[in-house]
Amino acid sequence: MDHFLTRDGELWAEDVPLSEIAAAVGTPVYVYSSATLLRHLSLFDEALKGMPHLVCFAVKALSNVAVLKLLGEEGAGMDVVSEGEYRRAKAAGVPGERIVFSGVGKTRGEMRTALLGGIRQFNLESEPEMRALSEVATSLGVVAPIAIRVNPDVDAKTHAKIATGKSENKFGIPIAKAREAYREAASLPGLKVVGIDVHIGSQLTDLAPFEAAYRKVAELTEALRADGHDIYRLDLGGGLGIPYTRSNEVPPLPSEYGEVIRRTVGHLDCEIEIEPGRLIAGNAGVLLSRVIYVKEGEGRDFLILDAAMNDLVRPAMYDAHHDIVPVIEPAPGAEPRAFDVVGPVCETGDTFARGRPLPAFGEGDLVAFRSAGAYGAVMASEYNSRPLIPEVLVQRDQFAVIRPRTSYDDMIGRDSIPAWL
Ligand SMILES: *Cc1c(COP(=O)(O)O)cnc(C)c1O
Repeated sequence: MDHFLTRDGELWAEDVPLSEIAAAVGTPVYVYSSATLLRHLSLFDEALKGMPHLVCFAVKALSNVAVLKLLGEEGAGMDVVSEGEYRRAKAAGVPGERIVFSGVGKTRGEMRTALLGGIRQFNLESEPEMRALSEVATSLGVVAPIAIRVNPDVDAKTHAKIATGKSENKFGIPIAKAREAYREAASLPGLKVVGIDVHIGSQLTDLAPFEAAYRKVAELTEALRADGHDIYRLDLGGGLGIPYTRSNEVPPLPSEYGEVIRRTVGHLDCEIEIEPGRLIAGNAGVLLSRVIYVKEGEGRDFLILDAAMNDLVRPAMYDAHHDIVPVIEPAPGAEPRAFDVVGPVCETGDTFARGRPLPAFGEGDLVAFRSAGAYGAVMASEYNSRPLIPEVLVQRDQFAVIRPRTSYDDMIGRDSIPAWL
């Protein structure tokens, strides 16, 4: 459930009409609902009730500091994959003991920053990374808490670009080699083993791969304990999928996901961490855009929007579907038409939808891309020299710009001309 509902013939974000935001801030613009973000966070907390746990929001899904502060103040931890994300979490007031550092290529500089600023644990993905972290920690006179990300060789049955748990992926250490890796980690002076980490992919719409992976983690926990390691924390990753269409696919609920966790690892007396990103943020955001032109082509009509692939790349990158809905309800009885929905960028890939039945939009009409809160604004670029678009956070009847639109002067002013030119 989200808080983007139709009221008085138009779409609102909580208690604010989207048309009011478009008028005040311009389009394109990302709009997030605080109530939806918090509701999704609380669903995970409820799902893990009775087990000691920490829900670490995957910052890469939506990294605006205002959003991180909102979630952090509700007790969320943060899963970060770069120094930039670590600094964002800290800037949002999240204490280091609630920040987990993931990612396959942490540099020594990033490790240093996190060790000095405070960190819950590093999730390590290779032996060279273990050695590097041990060296950095030792040089600072501290010991780094670590989990090793194991690759359980489970097929997450999701889009190839977001599957991470098969042995051919670059992520983690093969689970068959995990005991050896833990033996080495325990021997390194700068590391302290605290748990196991696994993350098998994103947008999973079936619980079976989670179940298979977590069973393997449970077996490994017992094997590592028998080897003498103190495993007291299990980081089970993120990846639970969301409905991108309002009609078909109904992904599992967080409560059902919680049951899988309880069933597979609940008996191990471990602290549970999970790292959801998409499920918390995805349906908590829309991308608001305006129709620039309706172009009648041969055999197909194009809706040309002021938003483009540089603002929302998921359709171009992952063939992703986003529902596109009118902000002002069409007149009753109006016949839908099939449109190709495109942006102004000079690439055929700048296509949001093909042959999509939509109301008979005209120039200047507002449209909303649903489910655009996760992997939307964070993946935006200035390709075609289109300045980054703003982000707005709504809370009940208030809204605030939480990142302004980049001005042309700021965008161009970042370039500098060398003295010899
Ligand atoms: C991307 C990622 C997540 C979040 O995945 P979602 O599908 O957004 O829930 C969590 N953990 C790690 C390590 C990731 O790389």
